[in-house]
Amino acid sequence: MVDAPPIDESHIGETPLLRVEHPGVPCEVYAKPEWYNLHAQPYGGGSVKSRIARSMLDAAVAAGDLDDGTLVVEPSSGNTGTALARLGVARGYDVEIVMPDEAPVEKAEAIRTAGGTVTYAPDYEAMLDLADRRVREADAYMPDQYANPANPGVHERTTGPEVGAQTDGRVTHFVAGAGSGGTVTGVGRALRERGDVTVVGYEPAEPRHGIDGLKYVRGSRYHEPEIYAPDELDDVLSVPTADAYYEARRLRERYAGRDPTIHDAGQYDDALVRDHLRVDGEFLVGASSGGALAAVTRLADRGDLDSDDVVVVPFPDRGDRYAHIPLWDDYL
Ligand code: PMP
Repeated sequence: MVDAPPIDESHIGETPLLRVEHPGVPCEVYAKPEWYNLHAQPYGGGSVKSRIARSMLDAAVAAGDLDDGTLVVEPSSGNTGTALARLGVARGYDVEIVMPDEAPVEKAEAIRTAGGTVTYAPDYEAMLDLADRRVREADAYMPDQYANPANPGVHERTTGPEVGAQTDGRVTHFVAGAGSGGTVTGVGRALRERGDVTVVGYEPAEPRHGIDGLKYVRGSRYHEPEIYAPDELDDVLSVPTADAYYEARRLRERYAGRDPTIHDAGQYDDALVRDHLRVDGEFLVGASSGGALAAVTRLADRGDLDSDDVVVVPFPDRGDRYAHIPLWDDYL
């Protein structure tokens, strides 16, 4: 066990809301930058997955599934593994993340830095089998974001109500990518309770090599994650990786030398939010954030958005996690 620095878990949730200009779209567009979860904590900012790491660990403690020293094992190629390693190790558990060989080196490094261990499997299917085997061998606990109701549950309890409150109830559309489906399912449930909100999910057009964070929804045995409820959504779009990259790059260019408007700083203040908006002066969002903007463009092109609509998208993570993909080839 490494000595993990303490983490202030109160810096999870109540993330800011940014107003973003989105040419070609006739209405207001807002984005919720989820990298502010744990932004000023050891090892830097988190992602949307900080929320579910906390809720899944809390649920496991409440159910009596976790004792001091329990090994936590999760198959993950990305943000969930990083978030579980940071929170789990800080809480005193051993955390082992099983990754496919092709997983980004940045994510493996982040897991090890947080004190977790990384076990590699040759491919995605083998990763799932190996994680199951590790749970049996080591009598470990697997949170399993694809089946755990604490995943959509935390979005229904926190992310969704934040979107409603931060737009003063004006939100008319929520548009988000489905990886596990937790974000779009949970936020959708919360917003629907508040009134007439159109909830649109998008899936990657190229599931096996597509948008990071989403690419394994189809074509694997997680084809239909148990917690993903596409039948509750008003629409599900298919977004090509190229469109997601295009929108992320267009956003970076649009905000060269100026900041998006901080509509609501969430639990922070404007100065702090401004401090963590940029990476080396650039406004870089992750590929799935670009994908959400691409889905919004699609809705506008179809004539589904009016001038008085208010669209909200999540920005699940910041773009500096993606040096390994062609997203920022010209920059990183
Ligand atoms: N974007 C990124 C960068 C992610 O890591 C994930 C989750 N893997 C998602 C989007 C999708 O979120 P969810 O699992 O809640 O559908």
